[in-house]
Amino acid sequence: MQTEKLYENDAYLRSFTAKVLSCEPLADAKKRSDGAAYGVILDRTAFFPEGGGQTADRGNLGNAVVSDVQEIGGEIVHMTDVPLPAGAEVAGELNWEERLRKMQNHTGEHLISGIVHTQFGYDNVGFHLGTDGVTVDFSGVLTAAELEFVEYIANRVVGLNVPVTVSYPSPEECAAMDYRSKLDLTENIRIVTIEGWDVCACCAPHVSTTGAVGGIKILSCENWKGGVRIRMLCGLDAIADYHKRLTQTVRISNLLSCKQLEAADAVERLMKQGQAEREETAKLRHALLDMKIAALQKTDGDLVIFEDMLDNNSLRALVNAGVELAGGVCAAFQGNDADGYRYIIGSRTVKLRAWAKEFNAAVGGKGGGSEEMIQGTAKATAETIRSFFA
Ligand SMILES: [Zn+2]
Repeated sequence: MQTEKLYENDAYLRSFTAKVLSCEPLADAKKRSDGAAYGVILDRTAFFPEGGGQTADRGNLGNAVVSDVQEIGGEIVHMTDVPLPAGAEVAGELNWEERLRKMQNHTGEHLISGIVHTQFGYDNVGFHLGTDGVTVDFSGVLTAAELEFVEYIANRVVGLNVPVTVSYPSPEECAAMDYRSKLDLTENIRIVTIEGWDVCACCAPHVSTTGAVGGIKILSCENWKGGVRIRMLCGLDAIADYHKRLTQTVRISNLLSCKQLEAADAVERLMKQGQAEREETAKLRHALLDMKIAALQKTDGDLVIFEDMLDNNSLRALVNAGVELAGGVCAAFQGNDADGYRYIIGSRTVKLRAWAKEFNAAVGGKGGGSEEMIQGTAKATAETIRSFFA
């Protein structure tokens, strides 16, 4: 016995009663991440199974949680966490919030696809509708301006509150009809019509007028297999997305002390300012390095430098200059007593590999390098480090 598909003729049915025809343990229960362990078949159902790019309805059957619904071998199988006795009457309840959002998104997608088809002749060649949003693939490339136009027309049709109807034309009527997603078969074709705007073969539940879509927003468009893939949201999902984006805009504009709709200009100014400051800092650091090099004193012993304003490359340049003036080693340190110091040490006269062992032991150090230059870290105070050289 075929399960009666209540969702096909009443998309707004959210609770129903049905008889359990069978309940079997799922063979793949261990592999599932949703906790479903049983497959339940009913005499009738309002649960839409996954199909045509739309994910399955979820909800409850009695005290069982329905986490997935699949059409398997022509049967609609409800995946539940606990078993239901065959022959029992059960009350079914959809997760209505999720279903309503899907209906808004799906009808909005038909409207967008219908307008693209009529205006540009491109087909919808891919569709995904889950809880994570909607993607639609078109067979041709649409520019940003063209999509803005399509979105505007679609939202006007939302405002006009056009009826969305379902029909089952006869095979003869079907063969003579022009509709999107035209299938090879002509029997049991379900046609969803947005009056005056779109005719499409589709098995999914839809809202009953375009006003119930609640608004349509195209979020992004990327090139996809010779055409484009758009991401879009409708109704409640579009509002939730708008809320997230507005929260970001408010935060950014508060941080920059600018008007909300001028945040991008303010960010651009800030980035230019940051770049100019980085260039200025690099210049100053260069000048500082030149001054530090000029201030180095020639010595027969070691040159020990504590320096916290130079970056690593400048510190290395300072040590390179220092080794020419030192009879022993030139050692430069950067850091503080609490966190320790990084060091770069060079010499023309001392073989540093052997020297480094003694040095590291004295200052809790780690590191190494060549005979001429070593670098590493020291876990010691400046006083301890200076006393090593004294
Ligand atoms: Zn559809």
